[in-house]
Amino acid sequence: MQPVQQLFDGIQSRNTRALAKGITLIESNLQSDFHKAQQLIELCLQIPSKSLRIGISGIPGVGKSTFIDTFGTYLCSKGYSIAVLAVDPTSSISQGSILGDKTRMSSLSQMEHCFIRPSPSGGSLGGVTKKMRETILLCESAGFDFIFIETVGVGQNEITVRSMTDLFLLLMIAGAGDELQGFKRGITEISDIILVNKADGDQVTASALSRAEYARAVQFLTPSTSGWKTVVDTFSSIDVSNCEHLLSHIQAFHTHILSTGILNQRRQEQELQWFEDLLHTVAFSYFFHTQERITFINELKNNIISGRINATIAINTVVNQIR
Ligand code: GDP
Repeated sequence: MQPVQQLFDGIQSRNTRALAKGITLIESNLQSDFHKAQQLIELCLQIPSKSLRIGISGIPGVGKSTFIDTFGTYLCSKGYSIAVLAVDPTSSISQGSILGDKTRMSSLSQMEHCFIRPSPSGGSLGGVTKKMRETILLCESAGFDFIFIETVGVGQNEITVRSMTDLFLLLMIAGAGDELQGFKRGITEISDIILVNKADGDQVTASALSRAEYARAVQFLTPSTSGWKTVVDTFSSIDVSNCEHLLSHIQAFHTHILSTGILNQRRQEQELQWFEDLLHTVAFSYFFHTQERITFINELKNNIISGRINATIAINTVVNQIR
């Protein structure tokens, strides 16, 4: 049997070691791994996806890891299987704490039907882990019911994660300031569910007030998902009864996107976006595969820095060179 086929079989039977090996293979930059990675991706593409992809965002310290630990453990106890992936785990803002290691999700990592992708050590490109889409695909082939993609609520990460997921869930906390939490720069507009987190202890009243404020505010926004009224609720990882409530929101959302055809449409758009991103990557690396071209671009950059040319002239020079 071919090693790639063996790996694929392992992934399909949700063997976490095979899954980790598969992800390492697709993340590899070695030329010798390239074809194997392609073979694996092609095999995975033949498996219809049944997973719901959920993007989870919020500022550092809002409680994302704790939330995934609590809610994920709850889902596993209900018989669901889940995979947890992290975006931008080496961000200087989160100081690598976004996922850290499995100890940050100590309860979930004990569960049988769960896969937590440890933080890649190599960092990320452009804020989002380079092979995130392929990683999601591998997890879907393993048949996980839910795939959580955790991202820090800063920069462009959320927009990219939104474009890879079916449902976007935003965690906020009362009293942290709207600006800091991205309210003003439209993060709430890409969210399907907003949870005011840590709604426990002396934060119960403040969280309820924040919830009401956000609920009022989202009424005036275009919903992120057509026909779906953005859910605004409170949540606390201390009280597991919140999980039941949240699951019912998620199920209602899933039913909505399935019955309206939004899920299919979203996946098609995501596929197209993936193709376009790959096209850019391939075109870029094709252009840059020689030392001569790299030197040529570096010269242009130096000329821009020294003010001899501007960006438009530089790009025209590149276009003429390609022609
Ligand atoms: P992240 O940076 O967004 O992943 O946040 P963490 O999950 O690491 O949580 C940051 C801090 O908030 C930790 O000390 C948690 O124990 C605490 N925390 C997380 N969720 C809750 C919650 O629901 N209630 C309370 N009171 N504290 C929480």
